[in-house]
Amino acid sequence: MKHYQMYIDGEWLDAVDGARLESINPASGEVWATAAIAGEAEVNRAVAAANRALKSGPWAEMNATQRGKMLRRLGDLVAENAHLLGEIETLDSGKLARETRAQSAYVAEYYYYYAGLADKIQGATLPIDKPDMHVFTRRVPIGVVAAVVPWNAQMFLTATKLGPALAAGNTVVLKASEMAPAPMFEFARIVELAGFPPGVINVITGFGEPCGRLLTSHRDVARVAFTGGPETARHIVRNSAENFAVVSLELGGKSPILVFDDADVEGAVNGIIAGNFGATGQSCVAGSRVFIQSGIRQQILDKLVERAGQICIGDPLADDTQVGPLCTREQLDHISAAVKDAVQEGATLLFGGKRPDGLDGGWYYTPTILDCPHQDIRTVREEMFGPILSALSFESEDEAIEMANNSDFGLAAGVFTANVARALRVSDALRSGIVWVNTYRAVSPIAPFGGFKNSGPGRESGIDAIYDYTRTQTVWISTSAEPMANPFVMR
Ligand code: NAD
Repeated sequence: MKHYQMYIDGEWLDAVDGARLESINPASGEVWATAAIAGEAEVNRAVAAANRALKSGPWAEMNATQRGKMLRRLGDLVAENAHLLGEIETLDSGKLARETRAQSAYVAEYYYYYAGLADKIQGATLPIDKPDMHVFTRRVPIGVVAAVVPWNAQMFLTATKLGPALAAGNTVVLKASEMAPAPMFEFARIVELAGFPPGVINVITGFGEPCGRLLTSHRDVARVAFTGGPETARHIVRNSAENFAVVSLELGGKSPILVFDDADVEGAVNGIIAGNFGATGQSCVAGSRVFIQSGIRQQILDKLVERAGQICIGDPLADDTQVGPLCTREQLDHISAAVKDAVQEGATLLFGGKRPDGLDGGWYYTPTILDCPHQDIRTVREEMFGPILSALSFESEDEAIEMANNSDFGLAAGVFTANVARALRVSDALRSGIVWVNTYRAVSPIAPFGGFKNSGPGRESGIDAIYDYTRTQTVWISTSAEPMANPFVMR
């Protein structure tokens, strides 16, 4: 059994009241680790440490180039430790080790990317409309950043926040998800190894109430970077009424994949499988509404069923496993109930719809394909966060676009077609922050990531993300040879 402590101000600590949570390995359903949880005292301590590190000491005095070098070192250490980080994430969350290891290794690229940007944040000299004035702007750090992440891709979602936040000179309190906090405490060890001054990066965990609320409403927090569900995001926005923190929200999705008659069948099926069963469907960009043009519909459905039947379900640590367990028992119950509801609402179960045989210990569910005759079906409307694919059919391009946009969410979309003009037309018409054409689930630190509508207004990754962690300061300097005139004496 592993026991994790919080990392605050460069020290490893338990909560003053000794509070701990138990973390369950979703593959076995058994407790494998405990973690200290932060109450009011620890949240205050972490924010105070971040505030101190921001205002004085080695971090505050460091220039941007030096900050970039520190981030580069962090990236190197994350890459060197990718195997361990991936394995711990798998034990805690049930995500496949081959995904978590690869993701941890790639996460280093996010630190490298923002390391490179650290000393390229520039202000401007303004062509001001007043005589004898020199006016310029500079970008200064916002302050203490509260980074709040969900359980499903913590290494990745932490990097998309810490990379730009640290490059811009801020300090951070990271709240790991209470559902799987272990990888973030392993990450804190790497932060320590990288030599970040105490207080620059603090790592805590706890439940939304009170830990998340206390952190995001804290008066000394100036920026909240949140990834999670829309309901939690509403709390975050309300919490920010206490501190007027700048808030970024990266929320859920119900992303459509559109397959046109002229699509390459093999490629489209691979895209749909990646979008629905990759990460066991527990992905914000899951392409869980699959719209197939009528001419190709049966062919695609047959192939999907065939491929679903070949998926290897099991131990997420094993290299040949393709679908692992859900993260929690509640999540398993949630999707089991939703599939039952879908069938009652008129969907036909083409594959799955049950727990796999012989895997009763963990939170496993068979990849499931539902043929849905209309959009008013629970699995078509709600984010499932599990391996549940809802297939619908369409006749025309216009109909496909209308159905795809008929969602409260707007995170991602996939378009499979051999027609470039159609790909451009359709991607232009889709209300989705990301559109993948003849591919799916590709991400990069270079490419902005974020959604429309209830998927949240935030954008992470890319150059602009760094500006979201700065404030513009405007400096006016009189260049007049005369002292400032008396304002009450008219000339
Ligand atoms: P969640 O919203 O339940 O929790 C996210 C985080 O918010 C956790 O750390 C939680 O403790 C914290 N939290 C809960 N209540 C809070 C409060 N009142 N104040 C402050 N913090 C609070 O999400 P989850 O179930 O862990 O993750 C799944 C969700 O995350 C899905 O909706 C998924 O689509 C979304 N997600 C979005 C992206 C993206 O980039 N758009 C990426 C991954 C996951």
